Amino acid sequence: MTENNKPSRPDLSKGVSLTAFRDGKLLGHVGEEDVLLVQAGSEIFAIEPACSHYHGPLAEGLVVGVTIRCPWHHACFSLRTGEATRPPALNALAVWEVARDRDNVIVQRKREAPKPSIAHRNAPTPEKFVIVGGGAAGFAAAETLRREGFAGAITMLSDDGAMPVDRPNLSKDYLAGSAPEDWLPLRGEDYYQDAGIDLRLNTGVSAIDAKTRNVTLGNGDRLPFDRLLLATGAEPVKLQIPGADQPHVHTLRSVADSRAIIKAAGSARRALVIGASFIGLEVAASLRARKIEVHVVAPEERPMQKVLGSEMGDFVRSLHEENGVIFHLKDTVEKLDGTRATLKSGAVIEADLVVVGIGVKPRLALAEHAGLAADRGVSVSEYLETSVAGIFAAGDIARWPDPHSRQTIRVEHWVVAERQGQTAARNMLGKRERFDAVPFFWSQHYDVPINYVGHAESFDEIAIDGSIGGKDCLLKYRKDGRVLAVASIYRDLDNLKAELEMERSRG
Ligand SMILES: Cc1cc2nc3c(=O)[nH]c(=O)nc-3n(C[C@H](O)[C@H](O)[C@H](O)COP(=O)(O)OP(=O)(O)OC[C@H]3O[C@@H](n4cnc5c(N)ncnc54)[C@H](O)[C@@H]3O)c2cc1C
Repeated sequence: MTENNKPSRPDLSKGVSLTAFRDGKLLGHVGEEDVLLVQAGSEIFAIEPACSHYHGPLAEGLVVGVTIRCPWHHACFSLRTGEATRPPALNALAVWEVARDRDNVIVQRKREAPKPSIAHRNAPTPEKFVIVGGGAAGFAAAETLRREGFAGAITMLSDDGAMPVDRPNLSKDYLAGSAPEDWLPLRGEDYYQDAGIDLRLNTGVSAIDAKTRNVTLGNGDRLPFDRLLLATGAEPVKLQIPGADQPHVHTLRSVADSRAIIKAAGSARRALVIGASFIGLEVAASLRARKIEVHVVAPEERPMQKVLGSEMGDFVRSLHEENGVIFHLKDTVEKLDGTRATLKSGAVIEADLVVVGIGVKPRLALAEHAGLAADRGVSVSEYLETSVAGIFAAGDIARWPDPHSRQTIRVEHWVVAERQGQTAARNMLGKRERFDAVPFFWSQHYDVPINYVGHAESFDEIAIDGSIGGKDCLLKYRKDGRVLAVASIYRDLDNLKAELEMERSRG
């Protein structure tokens, strides 16, 4: 990058005055690289300015202690070391040394990136940890075990044929055709080899023997464990109507599912999305990007009303309508006969591609058959341990005591699954770390992201600040006067602040 490309950004190697900082931050460059200066208390740090998850602008993020949080998906980085301390980011950011002479700040050389932990090679121990599930929680757990220096065996078993992937992308950029498939894996094959993680794909687990501490694989083999993490995720709810088993009717959970929809979209003229769920509507948006006519049929009056309320529901509906989606709300599909879908209202839609997005259910069979306590999910303690000592559960299957809502809750959020995987891993190693992160999720429709922090199973009031239609708003969901959750569009910093406030007021 040349100086010409950065007319307004100062060269930080020449020094800048503290008075040039705005809100404690200053974006500049050193040589060809962008660098963000951040003031945290009395210290100044220099860090790479783009989040290592989706390149969110950290200059618009929130500084908390000596960390910075990304405005887009709430990843967190140490300002001192650049380390990614909270998912969804996995990779560290570069940091530079900073020299100060009173008000003058000079950025010097880049620090060498810390080497990833390879403790398993240095001091092997005989312990065997088994992880069932190759998704968000399972992957985060395996990675954390190595980061924490665990030197025993890690076996990760997944009945999927794909390595752990960025699942949220499957309904968004990848499905829309704007992200190539090689963006999907969370890590390349080499990573598992280098980190000594025995990742076994296409390997289903059929049973857990909690007494003898063995798991049985689909082929009958048994694998002993000292500690076990169950992270089996969720699966799409199947549509129980005549014709739902035809080849042009799809659900979406895995890379293979997304690939199959993309293939069908290649020749489809009209798509029918059954269900106005987050995933259903993201699919609708992605198929519109592929210029396919899209109809959405759903029983509710407004999409997403139960979670986001009626005003946001109306907005989501009109956003999709502006982009050409045709809704058939307060209606259901009664049968699929070839390409002909008959609705309860009597209407008929001809569609050569059908995607069913009517929700997911947690994959609990293994846990239930093993005798683990379950209550609409695998019941876990605040340490994410199940009713059997040494067996942990995380992600979409886990129901945990959430200190903020003061209920036991189970959610289906990417970041929560990753954070639970990390906490479970540390507790597998004997640390007693409570899982007390405030739940967060995002959803993306066309160019509009919706960020949601907290958890409100129900609410009696929504306070709206700003304009939903103007795509500049913050909604607070209250129950008995208490804010349980906050949703926002393009108020990312406020969303981060709401998260911090909830963290500080929990319990
Ligand atoms: C298309 C799509 C888009 C999404 N978008 C968003 C989003 O924008 N924001 C958000 O917050 N969340 C999103 N989510 C939800 C998010 O992806 C999940 O909450 C998250 O993946 C849960 O992680 P997990 O580890 O619990 O389960 P998963 O990621 O589903 O992983 C479960 C793993 O367990 C394996 N498995 C299950 N049973 C067995 C068995 N018996 N033996 C061996 N392996 C087994 C599965 O093959 C899989 O590898 C999306 C989900 C989908 C499907």
